[in-house]
Amino acid sequence: MTDRRLSDDQTFNQSPPFVDVNLFTSDTALQEAVRREGAAQAYENLSAFGGLVGSAASLELGRLANEHPPQLESFDPRGDRIDHVEFHPAYHQLMAISTAQGLHCSTWEHLLAGTRPKPGALVARCAGSYMAAQMEAGHCCPITMTHAAIASLRHAPSIARDLVAKILSRSYDPGIAPIGEKSAITLGMGMTERQGGTDVRANTTRAEPIDGRGPGRAYAITGHKWFLSAPMSDAFLVLAQAEGGLSCFLLPRLTTDGALNGFRLQRLKDKLGNRSNASAEVEFDRAEGLLVGEEGRGIPTIIDMVTLTRLDCAVSSAGLMRQALARAIHHARHRSVFQRRLIDQPLMAQVLADMALDVEAATALAFRLARAFDGEGESEAPYRRLMTPVTKYWVCKTAPSLAYEAMECLGGNGYVEDGGFPRLYREVPVNAIWEGSGNVMCLDVLRVIEREPETLDKVLAEVETIASVEPRLKKAVIKIKELARGVRHDQGAARTFVELLALAGAAALLASYAPNAVSDAFLATRLQGSWRNTYGAGVAHADTNDILARATSHLV
Ligand SMILES: Cc1cc2nc3c(=O)[nH]c(=O)nc-3n(C[C@H](O)[C@H](O)[C@H](O)COP(=O)(O)OP(=O)(O)OC[C@H]3O[C@@H](n4cnc5c(N)ncnc54)[C@H](O)[C@@H]3O)c2cc1C
Repeated sequence: MTDRRLSDDQTFNQSPPFVDVNLFTSDTALQEAVRREGAAQAYENLSAFGGLVGSAASLELGRLANEHPPQLESFDPRGDRIDHVEFHPAYHQLMAISTAQGLHCSTWEHLLAGTRPKPGALVARCAGSYMAAQMEAGHCCPITMTHAAIASLRHAPSIARDLVAKILSRSYDPGIAPIGEKSAITLGMGMTERQGGTDVRANTTRAEPIDGRGPGRAYAITGHKWFLSAPMSDAFLVLAQAEGGLSCFLLPRLTTDGALNGFRLQRLKDKLGNRSNASAEVEFDRAEGLLVGEEGRGIPTIIDMVTLTRLDCAVSSAGLMRQALARAIHHARHRSVFQRRLIDQPLMAQVLADMALDVEAATALAFRLARAFDGEGESEAPYRRLMTPVTKYWVCKTAPSLAYEAMECLGGNGYVEDGGFPRLYREVPVNAIWEGSGNVMCLDVLRVIEREPETLDKVLAEVETIASVEPRLKKAVIKIKELARGVRHDQGAARTFVELLALAGAAALLASYAPNAVSDAFLATRLQGSWRNTYGAGVAHADTNDILARATSHLV
């Protein structure tokens, strides 16, 4: 057999693989966000985790888990139904890495100890999630759902008592056994049905009491879910119609004696991206579920879980944006065109710097939001309530266009599967779709300012402190207030309103904490209220050298 290449030294001017990069110590904006938002104590732990998840070995696990997506096995060799999903070993290793870091549980450890939440715990955990998504995003779905489910399980202390210790375990247990026999468990969520995902009130799945009605009681659940991700989770929080209305249930996959709990996996979705993660269509045939919270209070009960997953969508998208930018910068630093490195070509520098501004903004917004959830203090409630949908909307919607531009920075190599960029590109849209799509986030914002108008004033007060010395921000605040008055009667302005609120929030954070080159270029280009078609347009006067030096520091 002849070697494809005639000699090794014929390969030159190709960028080396983007591996063995510490995803924490190479990311200045992330490190600053972690310190600023109250998790400085986690610095060493995050540095170690950043090295692990950015290592060539971990990134290879991500590749393998996506090259060999999960397979549904409906029957065993004898023809009995098993409804089993088989994952590649690499997926389990990814799960073990994120579980050992506590991404599924670290913020809840005080529940076992009976103490108050640790300050900064959620910010530290989100920094881990931001990096884990860059290693491989699909496995983050069950990690996120397990973490978020505890928020809803607090509505059912009797059920939570038996589960929390197993959820808090940091040793991943993929075994197929009843919950009582497992050392660690993961949780999923079933809301979306064929006829409606956003409109969960249209759910037709029914719940009938088995031995009496009320919190903690068993109900027989019959119906279906159109999307149920991580279907090998040990239990799911599902919505179903009980006599008292739409209610939330904890539905274990197996019964206590190890049989399938009336749980039939119909098929797995063939998805655009997120392929390491299984998303199933499922039917329930008198599956036994325990009522979480009160009958008829299903939405308020599960919304606590949904809200935390929305935060994770923003954090994960910010991480994926950083990964896309870092790969583009890496390539531009190692690739020469017309005797000059790409990064030194003024037009390329402009494109990269412009993308870096959005990565800075996404990171600042996501971690400011994470702080608002840390400890769940009352003073942060207005920020949590209003800025969760605003941040999810803007960060998750900005990520796909940024990933596209970053891919183009790699030229043809960006478009080819073995370089890894196509997987990143296919992954990014999902965060905007699930857990409340764009319009739904906008409508949520409108609901908040209608029902609790003071939240907008409270959030804007933070922006106005900076606006008092920054005329561009001042103008944006005036516009936001004007839009807020109109948008109550005209939904059509909702996206403009939400975008400007996100951009003003980000601009205020950057003006307070980022170097002048970053905040000045962001303020100059993002607050005009006009649609920018492409990256690199409009930043001709920005200090691209300083912006890029910051985005590049510690990248090899
Ligand atoms: C990969 C993947 C995994 C998933 N995993 C899960 C899971 O584990 N559990 C689960 O329960 N669900 C899951 N989902 C479902 C997901 O949450 C829903 O797809 C999502 O909530 C949207 O619901 P829908 O698909 O029914 O779309 P629809 O609700 O029909 O919405 C379609 C579009 O209409 C817009 N829209 C809705 N209402 C309005 C309105 N009033 N005004 C204007 N526009 C509106 C939406 O923003 C959206 O863009 C998953 C989805 C995907 C893609």
